Amino acid sequence: MIKLSRAEIIKLPLILKELGYDVIVPIRSDRNVKLNHFSSDVMPELDYVRIINSPKDFLLPTRELLYRYKSTATITSYGLKIRFPTTEGPCPVSIMPEYTTPKGKLAFFGIHPCMVNSIRYLDKVMLSEPADPYYKARRQDMFVAALECDEGDDYCLCKTVGTYKVLSNLADILMRRSNGSFLVQAKSPKGEEVLARFGKKEELDKYESALPKLGNEYKIESADEDSINSGDASKIVEACTLCGSCTITCPTCYCSDILDKFSLMDPANVERNRVRMSCQRKCYSMIAGGATFLHTKQERFKWRICHKFPFSQNAYNLTGCIGCGNCIAFCPARIDFREFIARRVA
Ligand code: SF4
Ligand code: SF4
Repeated sequence: MIKLSRAEIIKLPLILKELGYDVIVPIRSDRNVKLNHFSSDVMPELDYVRIINSPKDFLLPTRELLYRYKSTATITSYGLKIRFPTTEGPCPVSIMPEYTTPKGKLAFFGIHPCMVNSIRYLDKVMLSEPADPYYKARRQDMFVAALECDEGDDYCLCKTVGTYKVLSNLADILMRRSNGSFLVQAKSPKGEEVLARFGKKEELDKYESALPKLGNEYKIESADEDSINSGDASKIVEACTLCGSCTITCPTCYCSDILDKFSLMDPANVERNRVRMSCQRKCYSMIAGGATFLHTKQERFKWRICHKFPFSQNAYNLTGCIGCGNCIAFCPARIDFREFIARRVA
C-alpha cells in the first residue's frame, strides 16, 4: 500500500486515460455530484457523499440501440401496411443477425463501495446465461478505483445491507482518505501496474475496510414476500408523484422496455431499442390488450421492494438494494421504504 497526496491521486484518472480507458469520475455540478466522462480539464470530486447517477448509466445506458431489422411494411394510400405472418404467409420481419457490441474499455474512478457493489449485482443479473452481449462487452476489461467512505448521510444504509465494504475481486484499486492524503492499495495485477506508475515503494501494510459513520442506523425486519405483500404502505406512498426518480437514480434498477423506432419515410429500416423503464409507472405492467397487473401506487411500491429483497435473494442469493439511499434522497415526496420494512436502531 502507498500513500498519495491529493495532487497525486488526481493524476490517477489521467494515467487510466493514457492507458486507453474511458474514465468515469464524480464531478460536482451546481447542486449534485454526478458521474461523467473524464477529460483533462475536469476536476474529479472526491469529497462527496452521494452521486445522483451510478455506474449503471454507463454499463446499461438509458436508451440503447440493440439492432436494426428490415420489415416489409409499406406505405399505401391508406397508411402504413404491415403484413402479418398468420394471414399473409411467413413472418415479414427479417432480423439482421449482425449487431455491434460497444467497443472500448471503461474505468470508474472514485466511486464508493455501495456503487461497486451495485456492479456486483448487475453482473449477477446481466451476465447470468444467456449473458447480455452489450453489458458483457462494456464490463470486460473494466477498471475500478474505489474510494471508501468515512461518512454517509441520513439516507445511507450500507451498514444495514452490508455494502460498505468492497469485495477483493470487485476493485483494482482501493483508496481511503487519511489526514489530508490517501492510502491506496492495489487489489489486482492491473491495479499494481497502474500504481507502479507513481514510482513509490510499497511501505505500508494493507488496511481493513472500516465502518463509515452514518446519520441513522436501521435494521431490516420484514423483507420477506408475505410480510411485504400483507403490509399496509398506503400512507407511505400517498404523496408519490409517479415521477420514477427512485428507479432512475437506483444503481440496481435495470428494468427496461423494448421500443421499435421506424420512420414512415423508410418503413423497411426499423431500429430496435432498449429503453429504461420504471416499475412505478402504470404502463410498466401493461401487456398486449391493455391489461395491467400493478394498478395502484401501493402495489407498484411493494413490487419494487419485493424485487430488491425477496426476489433478488431467491434468484441471485444477493440483496438487490445496495443501501445507497438514492431512492429516498432524490424522491420529491421523500418516500422512505425503510419506514415499511425496517426499524431504526440508532
Ligand atoms: S421518486 Fe418518490 S415520488 Fe417519484 S415515483 Fe419514486 S416514490 Fe414516487
Ligand atoms: S432501493 Fe434505494 S437504497 Fe436500495 S439500491 Fe436502490 S436507490 Fe439505493
